[in-house]
Parts: sequence; structure tokens; C-alpha cells
Amino acid sequence: MQPSGEAHIGNYLGALRRWVEMQRTYECVFCIVDDHAVTAGGDPKELPAHVVDLAVSFLAVGLDPERSIIFVQSDVAEHTELAWLFNSVTPVGELERMTQFKDKARRFESVPAGILNYPVLQAADILLYRADAVPVGEDQRQHLELTREIARKWNATYGAYFPEPEALVGNEGRILGLDGEAKMSKSLGNTVPITAPPDDVWARVRTAVTDPQRVRRDDPGRPEVCNVHTLHKYFSAPAVVDDVAHRCRGALRGCVECKRILADSISATFAPMRERASELRAHPERVRGVLEDGAARAREVARETMKVVRERMGLDWRAAAR
Ligand code: ADP
Repeated sequence: MQPSGEAHIGNYLGALRRWVEMQRTYECVFCIVDDHAVTAGGDPKELPAHVVDLAVSFLAVGLDPERSIIFVQSDVAEHTELAWLFNSVTPVGELERMTQFKDKARRFESVPAGILNYPVLQAADILLYRADAVPVGEDQRQHLELTREIARKWNATYGAYFPEPEALVGNEGRILGLDGEAKMSKSLGNTVPITAPPDDVWARVRTAVTDPQRVRRDDPGRPEVCNVHTLHKYFSAPAVVDDVAHRCRGALRGCVECKRILADSISATFAPMRERASELRAHPERVRGVLEDGAARAREVARETMKVVRERMGLDWRAAAR
């Protein structure tokens, strides 16, 4: 996940919640991808704090450094090295075909090569650990297909080594932001951060867009088209969800009150995580310890992989000088 600040409820519902569960059945590697974040051209002064914020979010939701490897991408230089080597088996045409590349490229007058090569670094992130499976959203399926192709091509050229990782596509779909229109996303400012204090949660949820046809309080509402109602389904108890729908349809409750209940449900859901996060923020050395330990464990696997990759690709000249 990219370090663009604290995780939000879309990240939680679409990714983190699942990752926490996956720790029961998989040996997991969770990486905060700051080398990727650089391609987005963010502020270098903010990046370190964003990395730590995301690490705090990871630990607060229950990613467990005892069970999983949690680390920062730029701590393991093998990611960028392997990406460079994968460039040699990656067709430019394939990269140009990627939907995300086409979307992003439109924003630039002169497209940086990093935007084009982004999925090659992703392939390195995955294959460096010889991963069997990757949890992805629908929008990342194409990039994972490319990772599989890179693995196939590399294997065909240099001998079978990398597995072709399977995409574990979640069924959550896109969580809409508080505007009720676009995907919830940090860059759009329509989010609720998972560790926001209750008054901040309320300040944000209060601005949420509801059924646009419900103009006055005594207009009956349509919960089925209201994003606030969708969010209730994730965070409120089933009886509350039924009750808010009933009162909405019957114009028995105004939208502000309905949002108040949602804000309370969100704050209650994340209360234990908020507490863990504030403890971690008070002890940054613990976060640092987790990330440094994670990087050391990641590096061990990465070095094993790179030893084989270098040998197979002829990057071991010492073999000829023995
Ligand atoms: P953001 O768009 O806020 O920067 P990212 O694109 O870094 O978030 O996404 C990180 C992870 O969270 C991805 O696995 C992505 O699928 C998931 N995710 C992000 N936003 C949403 C959303 N609105 N709904 C569902 N999942 C999301």
C-alpha cells in the first residue's frame, strides 16, 4: 500500500480488514511502498511521516509483526534492482496497454518513465518474495496479470524459478467517498481516516451527501440510493440498519440525525484501533523497531532470490575469475 497518509475506511473495508484475516492462513508480506509513492511526485518532506502514519494504521488494525513481515520498500534495495532486471523481459507495448497507465499519463504533458514502469516495480515487489498469491482490488487485476507474464517470460529465458502468483480479488468493490460519487480516496479528500477522533469523524460524516431527491426533512428518502445508508450497513448493527432505513423511507428522521448515528457507529467500530494507534504514536520507537525488524526479515528472503536471479542472468563475473 502506498504511503499517502493514514488509512481510511475505504482502505479498511477494501483491503486491511482482509489482510488481517489472511494472516491466519498465509505467511504474509506487507510492504509500505514508498518507492512507488515517489512516482506520484509527492512532497519529499511529507513522505517520511506518511510512511510512519501508514505503519501505525497497519499495526492498529491488527497486522501482526509476530506473524507477518511488515516493512518499508526503500529499506530493501533489492526491489528496485529486480525491477530493473525485469525491464529486460517486459514489453513496452504491454506497459502502454495498462488502463492505469493510460489514466495517469493523461495528467502529464511529458510522462515520466516511472509512471510507465510502475507495474514492473510491482512485479518485483511480488516476485522478490516468490509469492503464491496477492490480495488485490479489481483495478489491480491487470497489473497482476502482467506480473504473471513477467514471471513466465523470465522463467522461459533464464530457467523456471518464479511462481505465477494468483490474484485473490476481494468482493468488496469500491467504497464511495463522502461525496457519494467518487471512490473514497485520500487524494480526493472524501475520506474518514480510521483512527480519526470521534469529533473529527462527525465533522466529516456531517458533510456526507445523501439521497439528492430528499430535499426537505419530510420528503421520504431512498436508502437504496443513499451512500450514508450503504456505510451504515458496514458499521451499524443490523437492527440499527433496518431502523434507519424504515425511518428514512417514512420521513421519520432527518438526514443529519441519520448521519450522527453513522458517525457514532464508525467511531465505535474503530475505538480499539484508535487506542492502539495513539499508544503507538506515543512510542514511535516501537513502530521503528517493527519496521526495522521487518526489513531485516524481508532482506533475507530478497537476498536469496537475488542470488539466484543474478547467477541466472550472468551477473556473477566472479564465477569467471576463480
Ligand atoms: P487511496 O486511493 O486512498 O490512495 P490506495 O489506492 O493506496 O488508496 O489503496 C490502497 C488499498 O486500499 C488498495 O488495496 C485498494 O484496493 C484499497 N482501497 C482504496 N480505496 C478504496 C475504496 N474506496 N474502496 C475499496 N477499497 C479501496
